[in-house]
Amino acid sequence: MSDQNPVFIPGPTNIPDRLRRAMQVQTMDHRSPAFAGALAPVLAGCKTVFGTSEAEIITFPSSGTGGWEAAITNTLSPGDKVLVARYGMFSHRWIDMCQRHGLDVQIIDCPWGSGAPADRFADALRADTAHTIKAVLVTHNETATGVKSDIAAVRAAMDGAGHPALLMVDCVSSLGSMPFEMDGWGVDIAVSGSQKGFMLATGMAIVAVSPKALATMEGATLPRTFFDFRDMMKANASGGFPYTPPLQLIFGMAESLKMLFEEGLENVYARHTRLAEGVRAAVQAWGLELVAQSPALYSDTVSAIYVPEGFDSNALVNHAFATYGMSFGVGLGEMNGRAFRIGHLGSLTDAMVLSGLATIEMAMADLDYPIRLGSGVMAAQEHFRATVKRALTQAA
Ligand SMILES: *Cc1c(COP(=O)(O)O)cnc(C)c1O
Repeated sequence: MSDQNPVFIPGPTNIPDRLRRAMQVQTMDHRSPAFAGALAPVLAGCKTVFGTSEAEIITFPSSGTGGWEAAITNTLSPGDKVLVARYGMFSHRWIDMCQRHGLDVQIIDCPWGSGAPADRFADALRADTAHTIKAVLVTHNETATGVKSDIAAVRAAMDGAGHPALLMVDCVSSLGSMPFEMDGWGVDIAVSGSQKGFMLATGMAIVAVSPKALATMEGATLPRTFFDFRDMMKANASGGFPYTPPLQLIFGMAESLKMLFEEGLENVYARHTRLAEGVRAAVQAWGLELVAQSPALYSDTVSAIYVPEGFDSNALVNHAFATYGMSFGVGLGEMNGRAFRIGHLGSLTDAMVLSGLATIEMAMADLDYPIRLGSGVMAAQEHFRATVKRALTQAA
């Protein structure tokens, strides 16, 4: 079984050889001037990807989940109310974290497959005349359902209600793959990680924090030590780190930013859109349904696909791995057994996506799915051939 097969899980993503090489560096003293020279450009480059000139970039040695924890513990106090909509496993897990931290979570439950409900946020915020809600938490790209949400619409709902709560956004599976406009959308804290759009190994949580969010830091009393923004910002100011930094990842991130900027962020986004359209053409040709309820919600980084009635999506994913050595995403939470996921983010080309579609088709045919072998591949091939001229760079 070849370890060269791409993965089609929605993170961690395929690591380009260029980035694997960039992470192969010898230990360096993180108290030396050389380290300071490595960190600062990475923080500056991340600002561009987040779409911010105003925010502070703070990175912790952690997966994305640590970024959530940093966001809430640095800005909130026990008992504070936060408003969150639940429409998938990741929004659910952020809610669970808030509850375990002793926050008062006002939950808006939505059908899985829908996105952030700006209108229901507006109602809840207008009803909160005493402004007890301190933060609104939104998952930009719900990786469990393949749904992207309209963050600008959530900001408009908050402004329309004249509500001063902080807007915190999880962009772990969208940043660096789909447009993200932290300043333009009025996001106060955006949380991401190294192992999805940045195409790196797991281990850096990257958090962008607006001046408004920073201003709440001193008054926030939730306990934090490892994730304290103040310690990190103080150390970063002189080019250092408050504890041992993930050196190899920081070198990898410098190279990842270089790759993204060489291709051009707009071209990176266009590549993701085009590859996602190819996957969606295949899904349609198979006669299967996406979990995402409408085209405006379709994610360009992951597609969650219902299996036909009577089939088990776990068996499909297991079979594809056991038989063909290729990984696809299982259905999470409510979608367990009912849907599988094709991750299409990070370092991917037409040829790689076609290999994934061909493989999952073989697995479906083996398990007697009512699909025609080759139908999805052909639909994606046609889309890719029809659009290849306007497609710009194919990433390495
Ligand atoms: C991957 C992911 C996370 C973070 O997961 P970690 O495993 O902690 O890196 C958070 N939110 C979303 C939407 C994700 O896709």
